[in-house]
Amino acid sequence: MSKPTEVRAIYPGTFDPVHHGHIDIAARAAKLFDHLTVAIYARPLKNLLFSTEEREAMMVKALRDIPNVSVRTYRQLTVEYARQTGARVVVRGLRVISDFELEFQMALTNKKLAPDIEFVCLMTSQKYAFLSASTVKEIAMLGGCVDTMVPPYVATAMSAKFEGLASTGEENVELVSLRD
Ligand code: ADP
Repeated sequence: MSKPTEVRAIYPGTFDPVHHGHIDIAARAAKLFDHLTVAIYARPLKNLLFSTEEREAMMVKALRDIPNVSVRTYRQLTVEYARQTGARVVVRGLRVISDFELEFQMALTNKKLAPDIEFVCLMTSQKYAFLSASTVKEIAMLGGCVDTMVPPYVATAMSAKFEGLASTGEENVELVSLRD
């Protein structure tokens, strides 16, 4: 198969909410490919803190300075969405060994569904290795400082969310899943 002149990739995920580990992967992937679509999955099997629109708006803000990146939401199979955008590469981030097992399984399953799409994992930058959306949410929920983990507008949005939940007596609802 001949190499396409323009190589497009997607970086799919839940991004509930976007944090510096995600931003770092997106920025690095944008340097590797002609175009990167950050694809926000609208239907994850997870308890979400933010709506699809909120997750999208925060991601748009986070990546607004990178010209070859667009942010979109999607509801179908990731490989189908990749094809729809003209992407032949799916980018994911890897932090710890437990990420590898899941990414490996997902990549092999997706490869069965779409042999024409490649899966590329970028290693986390060391300073973000222990950063996850669930950790960020838990710290914010308990009133801790997340300033080094997320952009300021994400920290503000989380405070507002948790204040809103507390005022409706829902602060004890389980907001995060085991893995994010
Ligand atoms: P998903 O539900 O698809 O796992 P996430 O929003 O949790 O969505 O993560 C999206 C992608 O970003 C995944 O590939 C995940 O491994 C990666 N990722 C999450 N946190 C980090 C981090 N700190 N460093 C590098 N990659 C990360």
